[in-house]
Amino acid sequence: MFNILGKNPFVTGKEGPRVYVTQGPDAYDNTQRALGSLDLSGLKGARILLKPNIGRPSPPGAGVTTNPQVIAAAIDVFVQAGARVAIGESPIVGVNLEEAYDICGVTKIARARNCPLIDMDKRPFVERPVPKGKVIESLQVCADVDDFDVIVSMPVMKMHMHTHVTLSIKNMKGCLWRRSKVKLHMLPPLEGDENKPINIAIADMSSVLRPHLAIIDGSVGMEGLGPSAGKAKKLDVIVVGADPFAADSVACQLMGTCAEDTPHLAIAGERGYGVIDMDAIKIAPPHWQDWTKPFDRPPNNLEIEFPHIKVLDKNSCSACQSTLLLFLKKYARQVLDYYPDQDPVHIAIGKGHDQIPDNTLCIGNCLLKQKDRGKNFVPGCPPVTSEILKKLFPHGT
Ligand code: SF4
Repeated sequence: MFNILGKNPFVTGKEGPRVYVTQGPDAYDNTQRALGSLDLSGLKGARILLKPNIGRPSPPGAGVTTNPQVIAAAIDVFVQAGARVAIGESPIVGVNLEEAYDICGVTKIARARNCPLIDMDKRPFVERPVPKGKVIESLQVCADVDDFDVIVSMPVMKMHMHTHVTLSIKNMKGCLWRRSKVKLHMLPPLEGDENKPINIAIADMSSVLRPHLAIIDGSVGMEGLGPSAGKAKKLDVIVVGADPFAADSVACQLMGTCAEDTPHLAIAGERGYGVIDMDAIKIAPPHWQDWTKPFDRPPNNLEIEFPHIKVLDKNSCSACQSTLLLFLKKYARQVLDYYPDQDPVHIAIGKGHDQIPDNTLCIGNCLLKQKDRGKNFVPGCPPVTSEILKKLFPHGT
């Protein structure tokens, strides 16, 4: 009914993008009120895919996964408007989606509403060309995406170690099939372009894979070491917009940053895929900026977070990064004890490392070659905490 890059049922007039922000202690009510600002008359009979952020198992309220009450409100509003609604996700590599759906509270609200929960990794992918891509030529997209008329991206407001923030545009990476997501982290630099390849790749992706609507969950977001190892940040806001770039730009402002400082949004905005110019976006209510709560930035230098530990991170995937950061949050002291004569202790993750100091702890299959060079190596793609523990403390911590 609505091609993903064609007609958008939420856009009625020809005027510029509109974004609606609601605030209050009840996430369900906030979401309903924000969606109530939209014209939903075009949704009768439409098949809607809700794409939340359930990339990893995490309980509600931790700022990692989309609040189930926000999802519940979206289902209720769209069903009321005459649509058929399903929820779909392709999680980060190594995550059991059924378990993630359960733990984050979505299974319960979906069952109560007879709303299908789709594991989008189950079916074979569909190859989608990216004719305007600068670093990618095509994507392996989950086949389910093509079964729906309308795609709604429902991210959590988070800072991100690699991409500055992660919002509705970046959340669409969870529509890429299985391990193909990882390829976006493995691209070589683009000659003459100082942007990280991952950010150019997300902008490329948004030329062919962007949602019809963004519902950004700012009930509890994440600051600092996002997307999974940061601190939960309560804002109690919901941001809704049919131009996902405009919605992301408003969310950035509420987080105390801006789209221009978010490379994938800046690149895509410059290419004209959406509007990031705040002067061109109509935002309601007029006092929305009163709800701004600046988020701590992801640290440039992880030594501030983990003194005496130097993380050598080159183009790692979120999965590798999450494992390491969550591991360090729990076991940094034990790691320092393991290397008593070293200051700092070096730990490497990611791909394309040339020079790695002796005694570096190398984590993840991308560093397999370092094993041959005699370095302490933990296998896995992504690696798991238990393997790191086994390597360092075979007899227990
Ligand atoms: S080892 Fe880590 S960085 Fe390398 S591909 Fe796997 S998850 Fe990504």
